[in-house]
Amino acid sequence: AYQNGLLPYVHQPESCTPGTIVRTTENTVLIRDAFPKGLVHLLLIPRDPEWYVLTPFEAFSPASTERQKLDKHMAFLQLIREEAGSAANLAASELSRLVSPYSTSCKARHDALEGDDPPATLPEGRDFRSEIKIGVHAQPSMATLHIHIMSGENHSDKLKNKKHYNSFNTNFFIPLDDFPLMEDDNLMDKVEQDSLVKGDMKCWRCGKNFGNKFKQLKEHLEDEYNAWRSI
Ligand code: 5GP
Ligand code: ZN
Repeated sequence: AYQNGLLPYVHQPESCTPGTIVRTTENTVLIRDAFPKGLVHLLLIPRDPEWYVLTPFEAFSPASTERQKLDKHMAFLQLIREEAGSAANLAASELSRLVSPYSTSCKARHDALEGDDPPATLPEGRDFRSEIKIGVHAQPSMATLHIHIMSGENHSDKLKNKKHYNSFNTNFFIPLDDFPLMEDDNLMDKVEQDSLVKGDMKCWRCGKNFGNKFKQLKEHLEDEYNAWRSI
């Protein structure tokens, strides 16, 4: 079934499209999202069935008072945080390579480095790592537990509707750093999740509210992308 579409990356890696698996560790598989919603979009999947059958809430914010169980889940959260952090470094260097030809600050730094008489202090490089977000969907469509590691500019022809946009730009997207959640957040219900995804679309960069106007948002995202990449 569609919801199990991420399982082959764990269990039949040889059957997967070459290049989609970025790397495998003892604990996780890091893959490329097949429908990337930004310049760089990776998914981190735990390999242990005990973990990957769980929802993000069950895995990272267990509603249990049993000490041993809590400790085990928090150790798992910590492990996934570390692997996601390392994946985010990879994503940042990929983003840097994709954006630097257009970036004024990258060019200034490059020119200074390459010059005949390099200055004692180089111009600041761009901090691409801070443009990478790490998190999960409140209600994932794919059943196998996965963490999104992606750039935030949403420049992608795969970004085709409001849900695509809002699921990454509202509280429907939960940063991994927010786990474990407060008890109330754990109880976020389907109605609340739906209202986030169906609510207004706001620009990730300037906050402008586009309401329901997806086409206008897309045009604006293109302008923001051009401005952002040339910083
Ligand atoms: P979520 O379940 O958190 O909403 O997101 C699932 C993600 O998996 C989406 O970003 C979607 O583009 C991606 N996806 C869906 N099917 C496949 C697939 O077969 N292969 C890969 N690599 N990604 C997929
Ligand atoms: Zn904007």
